[in-house]
Amino acid sequence: MSQHVVVIGAVALGPKAAARFKRLEPGSRVTLVDREKLFSYGGCGIPFFVSGEVADVAELRKTAFHMVRDAEFFRKTKGVDVRAETEAIAIDRAAKTVTLRHLPTGKEEVLAYDQLVLGMGSSPVILPVPGATLPGIFTVNSLEAAQGIRDLAAAGGVNRAVVIGAGFIGLEMAVALTDLWGIETTVIEFRDQLLPGVSGHNLASMALRHMKEKGVEFRLAEQVQSFEAGPDGRVARVITDKGSLDADLVIMSVGVRPNSELAKNAGLNVSERGGVFVDETLRTSDPAIFAGGDCVLLPHALTKAPVYLPLGSMANRQGRVIGTNLAGGKATFPPVVGTWCVKLFDLAAAGTGLTLPAAKAAGFDALCVHAGMLDRAHFYPEKGLMSLDLVVERGTGRVLGMQGLAAMGDALVGKVDVVAALLPSGPTAYDLGNVELAYSPPFAAALDILNVLGNVADNIIAGRVKGIHVDEFAALWNDGEDRIILDCREHHGIEHLLEKHPGRWFNIPQGDLAERLHELPRDKQIVLMCNTGARSYEAFVTLAHNGFTNIVSVEGGMTAVNAAGIEV
Ligand SMILES: Cc1cc2nc3c(=O)[nH]c(=O)nc-3n(C[C@H](O)[C@H](O)[C@H](O)COP(=O)(O)OP(=O)(O)OC[C@H]3O[C@@H](n4cnc5c(N)ncnc54)[C@H](O)[C@@H]3O)c2cc1C
Repeated sequence: MSQHVVVIGAVALGPKAAARFKRLEPGSRVTLVDREKLFSYGGCGIPFFVSGEVADVAELRKTAFHMVRDAEFFRKTKGVDVRAETEAIAIDRAAKTVTLRHLPTGKEEVLAYDQLVLGMGSSPVILPVPGATLPGIFTVNSLEAAQGIRDLAAAGGVNRAVVIGAGFIGLEMAVALTDLWGIETTVIEFRDQLLPGVSGHNLASMALRHMKEKGVEFRLAEQVQSFEAGPDGRVARVITDKGSLDADLVIMSVGVRPNSELAKNAGLNVSERGGVFVDETLRTSDPAIFAGGDCVLLPHALTKAPVYLPLGSMANRQGRVIGTNLAGGKATFPPVVGTWCVKLFDLAAAGTGLTLPAAKAAGFDALCVHAGMLDRAHFYPEKGLMSLDLVVERGTGRVLGMQGLAAMGDALVGKVDVVAALLPSGPTAYDLGNVELAYSPPFAAALDILNVLGNVADNIIAGRVKGIHVDEFAALWNDGEDRIILDCREHHGIEHLLEKHPGRWFNIPQGDLAERLHELPRDKQIVLMCNTGARSYEAFVTLAHNGFTNIVSVEGGMTAVNAAGIEV
């Protein structure tokens, strides 16, 4: 039976749902509505357009086969009618109509629907402080904003930029402004680390160090209080609780909020903070209305609580599920784990599932195991260091999440994706240690870094080794207690540490340890150190076997210590 489907929002979710439905029911009618002039674009590409890596903004609107996704494209190739610059202003669920307003003319029209899709996305949060809407302050949620920022940068009128928020978008924008345009850029973040909420503190410190080396300034744990204009009326200064900064350009990227007023006013079930509730088929509380993308809440596979995950990867997959169900299908969207990645100059950061603080907040008795290793066979010439944090439940060994940082971004994303795929089925550290993965020296190590990480976690949970993270090492290093650092590497290359810290930094190569136990004190804590943590683990086993009890091994070793910028 032919039906009319109306889809509100035409960027990621809306076009996917519309096109999938039309393919399944070519005889039905679909109207796609968006209040913006430009729609159906790759918003995730905006930072790369600003940086110049994507030369023309039009590229973000094209298909892989170079067709611009305009109204004509949708009409001819998808059989979908598009109403751009048209806002949906009200839904009458009883009458099954939606009221549209054409924004350039103000003309209103009531459109009947059989089924309705809400893909209204999100809007950037604007800080509620004086001066927040001054010219020169941008949010990065539209192609027009992206073009505006790039035009300003290209005109050479920007010397100092301030980015507010050290989440994915803020950091990508900081990279874009610094890398291509050479603009002095400072990131202000309210929390005390980069990527708050998605990355652990250790990895965030390593990423911070890298970004600082690339020239980005950071002000962490600092709160913006107002913006001041210069004589030309444009933003000129950012005032915080700790001082002020000059700025010709401000990027405000402090999070997004679901666009759900329309749903709320129509009486649909919407959370207090604005996320539309949907069931596993992505139906709202009205069976004739579906919703997805940045305006909905989804159940988390591990915590079971509804979560807000405004990610393009979610919106695109959900669009297909909705399209199938509009045509009478029985598709479901599984609970989510939250999987992400971001490029930070020469490093990539990525993660899935829960961080340690998030796991603890959700009530898990969790611990975090760190490993820093080469991402492929050590003898293969091209290789990179990968640092991984695995979050596991103490009693069961169940894996709750993993975050990482690496030079070889593709390799890191591959590892994170494996864990993301496993997480919903509740793998343990032991399972990760045994997961089957592809191997050839140019791509991986025979015992893959994920297998090693699972094994390390398994050993820690079983009490075979007691590990500490680099931040715990930094605290031990600075607390003045009488303990020794036992460096288990070969002597070569560590002489400077032995000279600098006599009586504190000792060296016994791991292979010699069993024969030189008599040189070690039994009344002091011994902190084991090597390059990555592997030899420290072996040393730990030897010492424990020989009756030493007060020993800890530094997870990730000197590689992690150096990456975190800890001075020894
Ligand atoms: C700079 C940037 C970088 C990003 N990078 C990534 C990334 O690398 N990876 C990733 O997974 N995600 C990324 N995202 C997030 C991703 O872009 C979003 O999750 C995705 O676009 C959400 O799609 P959506 O269709 O739900 O909503 P949106 O893309 O927000 O589109 C919703 C559309 O609906 C319109 N609309 C709203 N209300 C109405 C109404 N009443 N009537 C008519 N139209 C309406 C809006 O104007 C908008 O055009 C990024 C986002 C940005 C801004």
